[in-house]
Amino acid sequence: MGQPSKKFKMRNKIVAGNWKMNTTPAEGVELAIALKALMTEVPSDVELVIAPPFTHLDAVSKAIAGSAIALSSQDCAAETAGAYTGEIAASMITPFGAKYVILGHSERREYYGETSATLNNKMAQVYANGLIPIYCIGEKLDERESGKHFDIVKAQIEEVVYNLTPEQFDAVVIAYEPVWAIGTGKTASADQAQEIHAYIREVLAAKFGDKAAKTPILYGGSCKPSNAQEIFSKADVDGGLIGGAALVAADFVGIAKSF
Ligand code: PEP
Repeated sequence: MGQPSKKFKMRNKIVAGNWKMNTTPAEGVELAIALKALMTEVPSDVELVIAPPFTHLDAVSKAIAGSAIALSSQDCAAETAGAYTGEIAASMITPFGAKYVILGHSERREYYGETSATLNNKMAQVYANGLIPIYCIGEKLDERESGKHFDIVKAQIEEVVYNLTPEQFDAVVIAYEPVWAIGTGKTASADQAQEIHAYIREVLAAKFGDKAAKTPILYGGSCKPSNAQEIFSKADVDGGLIGGAALVAADFVGIAKSF
């Protein structure tokens, strides 16, 4: 495995909150207002991103207006428009000032059968609409236990990220989320995170060369204020994708203060 790449000053630090299917619209606005009020505590070189449910994007975008908080959706459709009942096109997300779209979350892969083929189409939609993907990768528990985790993340990158143009690759954000750590209270150790983040960067560099030194790679999986500092201290960890702890403003901001 490669040597840790020194913390690259030009690499963005990002803490993104995936609200999943939580909060009513009113609760979402309340959380957004609480975060806005706490923004003075967030270091200026850390970008705070929130990904509420689609139904909250309008109200939440208004609640965070004038702050540095960036907005994300949790997914988007693989198609442009048409007879796709229940789907939300990327073009329907941009009017709310969204900057990011989370793609390939393990829950989407597991419960909604998202494959690399689907994700390639979603990626195309994201870029066509001027949005930035936060592309999630990560292995399941049995894959980690049988030592396949390196091969799994490599394939998830090769099958999707390798199809990006160099210009598209400049914008991509990767989130490494071991499935066994998501919502389970189990966290990868800081050393486990560093080991695989460095490997992910190597896999990215094999295709995109030096550009990979600038790619933000976020860690996700039961990250909280008490463990974020150790994980974020690692050379190839550039922030976090946060689930449960993103629903409590003080915890989420506490994580953002952990660099
Ligand atoms: C996630 O689902 O992206 C996640 C990291 O969840 P949690 O922080 O709750 O483990």
